[in-house]
Order: sequence, then C-alpha cells, then structure tokens
Amino acid sequence: MANKDDQFKKVISHAKEYGYIFPSSEIYDGLSAVYDYAQNGAELKKNIREYWWKAMVQLHDNIVGIDASIFMHPTTWKASGHVDAFNDPMIDNKDSKKRYRADVLVEDYVAKIEAKIDKEVAKAKKRFGDDFDKEQFVSTHPRVVKYTEQANAILKRLGQSLEKEDLADVKALIEELGIADPDTGSKNWTDVKQFNLMFGTKLGASADTAMDLYLRPETAQGIFVNFLNVQKTGRMKIPFGIAQTGKAFRNEIVARQFIFRMREFEQMEMQYFIKPGSQKEWYDYWKEARLKWHLSLGMGKDNYRFHDHEKLAHYADAAADIEFKFPFGFKELEGIHSRTDFDLSQHEEFSNKKLQYFDPEENKSYVPYVLETSIGLDRMFLAVFSNSLQEEELENGTTRTVLKLPAVLAPTKVAILPLVKKAGLPEIAKKIYEDLKWDFNITYDEKDAVGRRYRRQDAAGTPFCVTVDHDTLEDNTVTLRHRDTMEQKRVKIEELRDLVDQEVNIKHWLKKVQ
Ligand code: ATP
Repeated sequence: MANKDDQFKKVISHAKEYGYIFPSSEIYDGLSAVYDYAQNGAELKKNIREYWWKAMVQLHDNIVGIDASIFMHPTTWKASGHVDAFNDPMIDNKDSKKRYRADVLVEDYVAKIEAKIDKEVAKAKKRFGDDFDKEQFVSTHPRVVKYTEQANAILKRLGQSLEKEDLADVKALIEELGIADPDTGSKNWTDVKQFNLMFGTKLGASADTAMDLYLRPETAQGIFVNFLNVQKTGRMKIPFGIAQTGKAFRNEIVARQFIFRMREFEQMEMQYFIKPGSQKEWYDYWKEARLKWHLSLGMGKDNYRFHDHEKLAHYADAAADIEFKFPFGFKELEGIHSRTDFDLSQHEEFSNKKLQYFDPEENKSYVPYVLETSIGLDRMFLAVFSNSLQEEELENGTTRTVLKLPAVLAPTKVAILPLVKKAGLPEIAKKIYEDLKWDFNITYDEKDAVGRRYRRQDAAGTPFCVTVDHDTLEDNTVTLRHRDTMEQKRVKIEELRDLVDQEVNIKHWLKKVQ
C-alpha cells in the first residue's frame, strides 16, 4: 500500500514539476479538487481528445460530432432524471466531521478482501509455476472461496439497499462490517443521506425573472435534445452516432485522487442511435471497439478489465465499465451503457415534441434505442500519465526517470539539441527546428551538457531527441535518439521528417483499431 501511495505521490509531483498539471489558483492556496492543465498538460489533453475524436468521428462515416452548450433549459434535467435521482449516498463521521460516500466506504472494504484474493493467487502462481490454473484455484481454494463469497454477499446487499433506497440498511451494513473513518479510525457515523450532485446557478440579472439553471453534469443530454436536428440536417440513417467532448460539473461529495475525481471535468461521449431490439449486438460491438481503442495505445493489456454492472442505473438495460489499473488500483475509466429509449422518450414527454425516426426499411416511426460510450478525458489523462511514469535502473547503476507517453500523444515530439553552443552547431540546429516546426510540436534546447538535456526530455516525455554535432558539419547527418530504448541512430537531416512521422502519426496508431 505504501508503495502505491508513493507511486501516486510521484505522479502528482512529476505532473507539477514538468508543467503538466497545477493546482488551481495556487497563489491563493488552491481550490479543493480543481486543477489547471499546464503548458504540457494542455497539449497532452488535446492530443488525447483528438485521438478519441478521430477514432470516433473521422473514421466512422455514420458518426458526427457536435458541441452543445454547458447551460441547458432546466427542464432537460427533470426529463433526464437528474433532478430527482442524481444523488450519491453520503455519510458523515461525527468525530472527524469528514464526509464520505457511503457506497464507496463499502466498496473500499470489498476491495481489501479482493486484494487478499489477489495475494493468495499470486502466492499460488509462484508455487505452481507453469502448471497454475487460476480458475481452478479460485473456485476450490477454501480461503479464496470464502473471501469471494464474502465480497459478493456484501456487494449484493449494498446493491439491493441502494436500489430500494433503503439508506438505513446501508448504514447498518457499514456498522456490521465495522468500517471506520479511513482518516481517524472513528466509527461514530451519522445516518446515510442522499446528496444531489448538480451545481445550480442563475440566468438573468433581476431577482424576479432570474431562472434557475444547472451546470450540465454530463454532456449526453446535449446530444439527446439535438437528436432530431442532427438526424434531419445530416440526413442520418439508423444506426448513427453523435459524439461530443466538453466540460461537465458534479458537486462530488469526496473529490480526491487528484484528477481522477474532480468537480469540473471533461467528458468524451458518443450516443449511438439504433433500432430497438438490436441493443445487445451494439453493446457487444462497442465494448470491443472501445477496448481496442485503448489497447492501440500500447499501454499493456493487463492494465484493463471489464466490470459488468449488476446494479443498473435507472436508464440502462446493460452497462459495463472499462477499468484501468491506476496507481491506487483498478477503477472505472470508461462506461458503456445500453440506455434503451429512456432519454428520448423522457424528452418527448417533457417537451411534447416527437423525437422519432422514420425507418424507411420498416416503413414506420419509432423512438430509437441508444448505446452510449462515455469516457472522462481527465481520467484518461491520468491513466496515460501514471502508466507512463517509470523509473529505470540503467546498466551503469544510475536510475533515470522517464515518461514513456505513447509517442502519438506526447506534447512535444522532438527536442533539437546542438551538442555544444559553438562551432556553428546552434545555427544548424535552429534551421532544423524552423523546418520541422511546421509538422510537429517540437522544442529547442542548448543549455547544459547533452546527457542532462536527454534526461530532461526523458522526464518530460519527449519521444525523440535530435543532436547536431561536429560530424553534422561534414556529412549532414544527426543523431536521432529514442526515449524508450535510448538507442541512437545516425540519420540524414532530410530523413528526419519521415522517420519521426512514422512514429507519431495518428494514422499509424489508429490503424490498429480497425
Ligand atoms: P464514478 O462511479 O467514478 O463516479 P460515474 O459512473 O458516475 O463515475 P459516468 O456518469 O458514467 O461516471 O461518467 C462517464 C465517465 O466520466 C466516467 O467513466 C469517468 O471517466 C468520467 N467521470 C465521471 N465523474 C467524474 C469526475 N468527478 N471527475 C473526472 N471524471 C469523471
């Protein structure tokens, strides 16, 4: 545990030191759970957004993108169910005065049991070596079976109590399990209450006429209310999708874990409008397609897993999360939800407008079903950043800190470095810089010994360094150094553009998805 915490602390301090993420309004001591993306962070975030947008919109001829407003007519949120049901169960500790999400306290307790299972599995795997059959072990080893039953029973009860809104039973469960305040160890709890997560604000200047608005808690509703506009003007035929990226706001009870859970964050969502009855087929399709997108970044298959929901949201008939192994364990990165016709039907009812599609094949109109993929851009940022930050032992006994960002996402693709600040080398380096800057986001650095400059670029996540040295004057070649392997190759200046392009061009990466 201490190791995980250390690793996570390193991620947070590295993000600050290398210009990725700063605490918001830091000169005023910051604002809890609000962060600013710094010069490198803004680039990385933009590149992730583009990687998603190209995969979803540009590469699907039946998916288009929109950019709806953050403010929406307040009835939107009545129709969507957010006014009545967008709540989290919260509980306060009377001694520490700290507030927690009651369901998260129970889930964290279960995660500890699961960690025990993982430990037993790891031990057995070591003991049995190649002969180890995980499935058999997990289903027969008495201690593991007991842990599994325990974990399942707790989750089942939590799910049922939340479903029935039986908050007294959620509290009873916390007490029966002996769950204590993680910070202080106190078990002196208040009752569990529901807390609405939407931020309210007012539109208009005069007190009498001002209208109560909400900051949108998800981008999805901007897509639903525009469904017919897009379908008609884009002459879209079912199945088709509408994609959108943008800010969402939630007054999270416990916003912690850095940019994993924020009060202002960005979502990348796609709603796929389909024929009723075909939802299972599209659910399976999008689960696979989205996982492939993640895997195309080469961050390791073992870092992802699906978690199928047992407790479904009021709008869903099936839902799964793609979970990622963050420094603090496997957690939700993306959701894939089969939302039925819930949203469009609700908007039909509340707006009194028909939101139907005339299907020429069936010769009838219907309210389409919706399959949604929804990923948090900031969470994706954290997944990429934390997974990329590595410390390596080198052969000479030293260690290097290297940020192995997938090259396609790296903020800066190339650093141009003259070996020394004389003998005409900076002039050539600057010429290369001026030439390549049209194609890639690059940087120029001539300060300090070249070894230190390499380390600096490694830690900042720059995949390539180009070094101009005395031989360059003779033969027009430079050294191209790879961040991950530290391999150095002699290449011709005129080959640079193509060599770098092969490694960073989004096309080469996204082809793996198709
Ligand atoms: P969680 O259970 O972690 O609160 P959720 O199930 O409420 O998430 P959704 O409503 O399905 O999340 O939102 C879709 C995606 O938006 C999530 O998978 C996550 O990546 C992202 N997301 C949701 N809430 C936050 C937040 N407070 N901060 C950052 N990202 C978020």
